[in-house]
Amino acid sequence: MKVLTAPLETQNYCRNRRAEGKQIGLVPTMGFLHEGHLSLVRGARGDNDCVVVSIFVNPTQFGPNEDFQSYPRDLERDCCLLEAEGVDLIFAPTAEEMYPTNSATFVEVAGSITKGLCGASRPNHFRGVTTVVSKLFNVVHPHRAYFGQKDAQQLAVIKRMVSDLNMDIKIVPMPIIREPDGLAMSSRNRYLNPEARRSATVLHRSLQLAKGLIEGGERNAEKVIAAIREMIEQAKLARIDYVEIVDVEGLEPVEEIEGEILIALAVFISEPRLIDNLHIRVPSK
Ligand code: AMP
Repeated sequence: MKVLTAPLETQNYCRNRRAEGKQIGLVPTMGFLHEGHLSLVRGARGDNDCVVVSIFVNPTQFGPNEDFQSYPRDLERDCCLLEAEGVDLIFAPTAEEMYPTNSATFVEVAGSITKGLCGASRPNHFRGVTTVVSKLFNVVHPHRAYFGQKDAQQLAVIKRMVSDLNMDIKIVPMPIIREPDGLAMSSRNRYLNPEARRSATVLHRSLQLAKGLIEGGERNAEKVIAAIREMIEQAKLARIDYVEIVDVEGLEPVEEIEGEILIALAVFISEPRLIDNLHIRVPSK
């Protein structure tokens, strides 16, 4: 397994693999890997001849009061985990290598898809994500790129960018990997103390409650949202950022639950802000 930090060297390596006729799969990450990330790597390993994992805590997707400095990092451990998964190349650039001082270009998906949900409380977040993912795509030029449904809005925004900009890359969505008690795996879970960790299960529990209501015939989005909020508000240390039910492509709020919808939520549990979601297909009447 190779570990490279220079974009040009990485580009050359990937160009050579492509010229040999190899299919390239890219898994973009911010490191501090867990089973959620590794499931993406295994997906990529199954579909491609050459697997590239990027590890980069991207400064442009963090707001001024967010956790960029304290975001957990452990490159050595990540390398061991990825070596065991048979990864071919880790691309782990520094911030200076990714954003030289004369860097002046951003890629931005406009409109409600980036303004709602996480975009409302993290104004420049998705601009940072689409900029860095575009750069990673240009460096690696993968055939396929793997993204987790855990970050459902990120996935929708990247699919839109790829479609709008005619990028010749297949975006492969991967299911959410959870702890045995239902908490979605996240590098940020390590910020939770034992009490907060117990409370954090309320995200998944409230989504399961919503699923039960919908399976029982409830179609009014407002009522389902109210039930979710009520459950979360009772959990210790929990403070809701948002609870919304939206259509899966444009991420516009729906009133009536039908077709493919996403129930998405973000909740502060003590300090960290955690996200989770449930994608449901409800037969139309
Ligand atoms: P991150 O390192 O948090 O930027 O995540 C890198 C990729 O891993 C993103 O595509 C995430 O959606 C995905 N990911 C993170 N956590 C999970 C999880 N619990 N299950 C599936 N994918 C995940």
